[in-house]
Amino acid sequence: MTTEATRPLPTCFICGASLRVSITHSKKGKVAVALTCPTDGRHLRAFCNHRPFVEEVVARVETDEAALQKHSKTQAGEEDEG
Ligand SMILES: [Zn+2]
Repeated sequence: MTTEATRPLPTCFICGASLRVSITHSKKGKVAVALTCPTDGRHLRAFCNHRPFVEEVVARVETDEAALQKHSKTQAGEEDEG
């Protein structure tokens, strides 16, 4: 278990699993943050007219997830170089 200072990810209101955050669009082209439950696939969409806000939310969450995956990968084994 890591005790690094990481922002808490939003969790499912029903089962408490960490929600997957992605960007989505309405039919009218408005941007929205989609919060998807990994357990049952249900999702919420949070619309916001301020596109930079939505993009930053997604960028931050994706960075956190990428960092986590990178960590687990580097721990798993050696990397091929050359
Ligand atoms: Zn859930």
